[in-house]
Amino acid sequence: MSRAHDVIVVGGGVIGSAVAYYLSKKGIDVLLCERGDVANGTSSSCDGNVLAIDKMPGFDSQITFESQKLYDRLETELGHDFEYRRLGSTLAVEDEEQAVTARDWVRRQKQAGLPMRYLEGQEVHDDEPQLATDIIGLVECASDSSLNPMAVVFGFVLASQRHGASVKRFTEVRSVVTGGKSEVTGVDTSEGRFAAPKVIICAGVWTPALAGTVGVNVPITPRKGQILVAERTKTIGRRKLMEFGYLMAKFGGPAKRKVEPDMEKYGIALVFEPTPHGNFLIGSSRQFVGFDTVCSSRVNTLLARRAIRFYPAIRDVKVIRSYAGLRPYTDDHLPVVSEAPEVPGLYVAAGHEGDGIGLAPVTGLLMSQMVTREQPVMPVEPLRLDRFQRSSVGVGHASCS
Ligand SMILES: Cc1cc2nc3c(=O)[nH]c(=O)nc-3n(C[C@H](O)[C@H](O)[C@H](O)COP(=O)(O)OP(=O)(O)OC[C@H]3O[C@@H](n4cnc5c(N)ncnc54)[C@H](O)[C@@H]3O)c2cc1C
Repeated sequence: MSRAHDVIVVGGGVIGSAVAYYLSKKGIDVLLCERGDVANGTSSSCDGNVLAIDKMPGFDSQITFESQKLYDRLETELGHDFEYRRLGSTLAVEDEEQAVTARDWVRRQKQAGLPMRYLEGQEVHDDEPQLATDIIGLVECASDSSLNPMAVVFGFVLASQRHGASVKRFTEVRSVVTGGKSEVTGVDTSEGRFAAPKVIICAGVWTPALAGTVGVNVPITPRKGQILVAERTKTIGRRKLMEFGYLMAKFGGPAKRKVEPDMEKYGIALVFEPTPHGNFLIGSSRQFVGFDTVCSSRVNTLLARRAIRFYPAIRDVKVIRSYAGLRPYTDDHLPVVSEAPEVPGLYVAAGHEGDGIGLAPVTGLLMSQMVTREQPVMPVEPLRLDRFQRSSVGVGHASCS
């Protein structure tokens, strides 16, 4: 067995790399194991939005807001350009029925401290001139931002290494190893055994399989999402835009979107994201189809159709590729950032569904505080793993990503 580390982090996605960074920054000796290259999983098959606009007022919006504050200084802190752009984001309102809910949504979010406002009339089309003329309102959140998710992962990994972390790529962790009192002693990997008294599983949708090697149940399910990438072209929209109707359906309001049945069947809702290079991304779908990441042409068609409904000019733009990723879904839509009480030394940071990019900094910080027994920057009770045993009802959270 090689020399012991303080902590072994499993998974080199955005969550594992953030956890490795915040731990190594505190002087903790970290080994990060990733079975492929870093950014091998969902963190390279997603959008790059850091959104508070679609979060429920309360714990959900507060944890996002904490992460946004960390992101604001992260490029400087990591010394790494990850294409961070804080342009704000918007939700497009299609009719008066949605507008009533949207105005109330803005009022509640403002009360919770978020920088949000409602635009209507000509201001909507001055803000986004290519938007369909029948869009009557925009909800705006000024603190929202976009970035390149893979670049963030590389930024975290490189900075961790500068702080002394060891990174083992192409090293699959096959099981967590425990001692006589069920306490963690290390991991068995494709490259041999590594020792540490603490192991943090940050393996996204693959977390349940690894946690299961020591009998720990982590209820995370893959939720597929598909995205189209458009060619470099004229400006279609200047910043991130989603459709408001999707949020209404998601939060269980009485109003339903006026869309063809397949849009609901495949969970299609417009998520438009321009990149700094002149391309843009069109998302997104939501499906429970196991670990399948094959792109469906039916879903591609529906995504394109939904995008054209909001931005008619997209009809003339070429799509250059599509990809699909697996969101790590939990039933209450909140991640697990927690100890696994039945196995001393085992921790889990996973299950961020459509928000892992946005929540990576706050997750890394909270996990580092948990490991070092410091006071966390915010309450972690809603993120505990044992909440799934205690109750089937969670705090409640949703996102469009
Ligand atoms: C279509 C789509 C759009 C999205 N858009 C957004 C967005 O705009 N904003 C946002 O915040 N979030 C978004 N998300 C969600 C976000 O991508 C995820 O929440 C996030 O990437 C999860 O990161 P992770 O590190 O937990 O998992 P992953 O990125 O999957 O990382 C897990 C890593 O663990 C490794 N691994 C697994 N098992 C082992 C093992 N046994 N040994 C070693 N390594 C192992 C894997 O290879 C992988 O690299 C989107 C997701 C999708 C699918």
